[in-house]
Amino acid sequence: MRHLAVGRARLLGVGPLLASVIFVAAACGDDETFSGPIEATVTHYDYAFDIDSRAAHATVTATVDTAGDCFSLPMRAPLVGGTATFDGKPATSATADGTTLTVCSDGGTDGPDVTIGVDVTIPLETLSTSQVGYSKTVDGSGNPFYYLVSWVGGCDRFGPCDNRPNVFATYTFTVTHPETMQVACSGTLATPSPTQTTCTFDHDGGPTYSTFGVAAYPTAAWVATDKGMWGSVHATVFARPQTLVADAIETAHHDGFMRYMESTFGAYPYGTELRVYAAPTYWAGFEHPGSIVLDDSLGRAANQAGRHTLDHEIVHQWAGDETTLADTYDFVWKESMAEYLTFTYEAMVDVPAADRTVAGWKSGSAGAAFFPVPGEKPALFDYYGDAYGPGPMILFRQIERMSSPEQVIAALKTLLGEPRALSVDDVIAALETSTGLDLDAYANAWIKGTGVPAWPTVVATYAAGSLHVQVTAGGDRRCKFSIALVGANPGESQLVDVNTFTGGIDQTIAVTPAFAVTTTQIDPLRECLVYPATTVKPARVNPWLSPRALGVTE
Ligand SMILES: [Zn+2]
Repeated sequence: MRHLAVGRARLLGVGPLLASVIFVAAACGDDETFSGPIEATVTHYDYAFDIDSRAAHATVTATVDTAGDCFSLPMRAPLVGGTATFDGKPATSATADGTTLTVCSDGGTDGPDVTIGVDVTIPLETLSTSQVGYSKTVDGSGNPFYYLVSWVGGCDRFGPCDNRPNVFATYTFTVTHPETMQVACSGTLATPSPTQTTCTFDHDGGPTYSTFGVAAYPTAAWVATDKGMWGSVHATVFARPQTLVADAIETAHHDGFMRYMESTFGAYPYGTELRVYAAPTYWAGFEHPGSIVLDDSLGRAANQAGRHTLDHEIVHQWAGDETTLADTYDFVWKESMAEYLTFTYEAMVDVPAADRTVAGWKSGSAGAAFFPVPGEKPALFDYYGDAYGPGPMILFRQIERMSSPEQVIAALKTLLGEPRALSVDDVIAALETSTGLDLDAYANAWIKGTGVPAWPTVVATYAAGSLHVQVTAGGDRRCKFSIALVGANPGESQLVDVNTFTGGIDQTIAVTPAFAVTTTQIDPLRECLVYPATTVKPARVNPWLSPRALGVTE
């Protein structure tokens, strides 16, 4: 009602038209009341909590779209005291049923803003075996790691929160902790006292899944290492020295990668600072904006796994954070872009690393239990692990082979670089525009489906100048790949292009190598999720789990 009161005062001051003054006074008297549900868009979360007691106070500010007297938001955390504030005053009622908080005020409001405040207790519980939720994990040296993780649709675990994936907000976190602890969260860090840390996040693109997150670890365990400038960004790594994470992080590589990302997709979205924290985590990494968390085993991991993981999380600053998910079931595009752009840069600077990455995608895809956009809409936790292999293969690698890497990157340039929400359909549409390919049937066959996906299987036989290629299963799923004709002697190998997207599922290709062909090899370049018909379906794998999550102890 505040803005209307101001408006009336202004009109009264001018006062030329009695009728209009009477009308305004009638409509906007101080005793005017509004009733019904308030429709409002959350703009800011102010969240204060104590890491040990888990007592929290949440203040949510929203822009009112429809006036009313009751404001409801998703909330799973238990309400403390049964009371709330409404625009700073005691609310007339506050009810929480385990999924929704409803706060009502006598007279209600028509805005422009509404602010509600509640006390809650953060449940010390997580989603299954993960760290989604609030958890305390003790590392191999006895250090406690406190972690508050929303993930997609999860911010209402901690207080009233609009948990839709496609909305952005700003945030202030005020964290109370023992003097010995250090706190990590997105935004500008400050320590007003030895037992209090604040994070102020006021950038445009802050989705709840990654921005509503806080970690705390002993200061002695998060030793800061200045890693200098990566592109336009000052990077600092916080890690336990014995994990070797800070030593393993290659400044020159990540500087080059950040420059590649900034030159391709525009400036790093979160100011001038990137903080990277190593900790005992469930996932290999997590992309809190400007505040990446990495699993602390990555300092000792083989094959530059840590380097790959950090680049993956850097991509997410653009793809996932600044540009976010339209819906939960669009999850696959953000993981696919993070993987594909990491791979694209590896292909420029370290070809063996790129080969390992694409080999990992393909082997990890073979046991997938769901399509990238699963029609049965399982819980995200039940299928997200299937996104990391099939996603980058189907959305980008296979399309890159049917067009060109340049055309795929050109499509991504039209998608990233601004705060907005994207669907998988938006990504496909951009790829169609950029490549000129009609991808409707492709998307229906490869991306959207129910049940366990049957990736195509192939039998290839060579005889007397003819390579016969027959797709024996999964024939709706077409792509371009190579078959190698191989002889008995070293160096006897010739690649033959096969394109089932344009040439169908039963092809005979005339080819006469200068050697006697003794065997064929299907898709040696890993261009498509096509497998020999003799392949035994392997066990399902989740490549994003840390060794700790897989039961490997320090
Ligand atoms: Zn990711």
